[in-house]
Amino acid sequence: MPHLLDPTRNDLETWLAERGEKSFRARQVRQWILHRRAASFEQMTDLPKTLREALEKDFTLWTTQIARHSQSEDGTEKLLLQLADGGRIECVLLRDGTRRTICISSQVGCAMGCVFCASGLDGVDRNLTAGEIVEQMLRLQQLVEPDLRLSHIVVMGMGEPLANLDRLLPALEVASSEAGLGISPRRITISTVGLPPAIRRLTERGVHYNLAVSLHAPNDELRNRLVPVNKNIGLAAILEEADHYFEASGRRLTFEYVLLAGINDQQEHARQLVNLLGSRLALLNVIPYNPVAGLPYATPSNNASRRFREILEQGGINVQFRERKGDKINAACGQLRRSTPPVVTIAAK
Ligand code: SAH
Repeated sequence: MPHLLDPTRNDLETWLAERGEKSFRARQVRQWILHRRAASFEQMTDLPKTLREALEKDFTLWTTQIARHSQSEDGTEKLLLQLADGGRIECVLLRDGTRRTICISSQVGCAMGCVFCASGLDGVDRNLTAGEIVEQMLRLQQLVEPDLRLSHIVVMGMGEPLANLDRLLPALEVASSEAGLGISPRRITISTVGLPPAIRRLTERGVHYNLAVSLHAPNDELRNRLVPVNKNIGLAAILEEADHYFEASGRRLTFEYVLLAGINDQQEHARQLVNLLGSRLALLNVIPYNPVAGLPYATPSNNASRRFREILEQGGINVQFRERKGDKINAACGQLRRSTPPVVTIAAK
C-alpha cells in the first residue's frame, strides 16, 4: 500500500482524482497529519466517513512501530523505530529552553565506518525513504505539547545524509515549507562526514540549510584513521566544497569535532585546527565523546579539554563546547539500537 507520508509520490492526488473526489481533500488530509497531528484517518473528522474508511483501506499512514521510547530527566526523549522490513532506526527530541530540536536518521546503519561511532559498526543496510524520514519528524512532533512546535532539525542520527540526498531533500522540504512543518531552513542542519560531490549538489540546488562537517581530525593522516572514507577524499577537497556552499548559501559553516582522549585531543591538534580553520567565518563545535560499549575510546579529562579549548580561543577560532544530553538513554547515534532487542509482531489470526 502506498505510504501517505512519502513526499516523493503523489499517490493521494491520483487516488482522489480517480474517485472523483475534490482535489482540496489532499491538502485537508495533509493538514490533519502535519499540523493537527492526527494519528489515524479516523481522527480526520471533517472528512466524510466513507472517504476516511476508503483511505484507511488503500493507504498506509504509519510504516513504523515504536520499538522503544526512552526519556531522560533533562527532557530528552528518544524513539527506536522499527521499519516495515524489520530494520531499526533512532530519532531524538531534545528540549533546551524554548528550543525543541529533533535529531533524525537518514539511513539504516552507516557505511562511513567512523571508528568511534556505534551506527556504522554493522555497515549500512539501506537508505531510508523520504516517507520514513518524514515519519520520524511526525512521531517526534507527537511527543511535543499540543500548543508547541518543533523548532529545529538536525540530521545527525544514523547514516550519512549526503549519501541519501534524493530522499532527504524532499523530506526536508516537507519540514521547511509552510504547508508542511514550517521550520525555517536556517533552523535545519545537515551533518556530513564530507562528500564533496554531494556538497556540490547542495550548492547547485540553492538550498539554505546549515551544513555541519564532521572533521574529528586536523590533518589527513589522523582523519584517515578515524574516518576511513577520508582516504579517498581528503580534507582539502571537503573544505573547498564546503567553502563554495558557504559562499552560495550564506550559511555559516559548522565543523564538528568529537574529542577522543589521547587520540585527537592533544595541544598540537588544537594548533593544527587553528591553522586549518583560522581564516574561515565558521563555528567549531567540540563534542565530548559519548562512550560506546565495546569500543576503546574515552572522553578526555576536564584538564585536557580546557587546554584544547584555550588554544583554539587564543587562535581566534569561534568555538563552542557542547554539553552532553541524554547520556542515560544512549542518545548518541546508533547506541539504543544496539542495546534493544527487536520487536516481535504477532500476526493477527
Ligand atoms: N554521518 C553524519 C551524521 C551522523 S553522526 C556525520 O558524520 O556527520 C552526527 C555526529 O555525531 C557526527 O559528527 C559523528 O561523528 C558524531 N558521533 C558519532 N558517534 C558519537 C559518539 N559516540 N559520541 C559523540 N559523537 C558521536
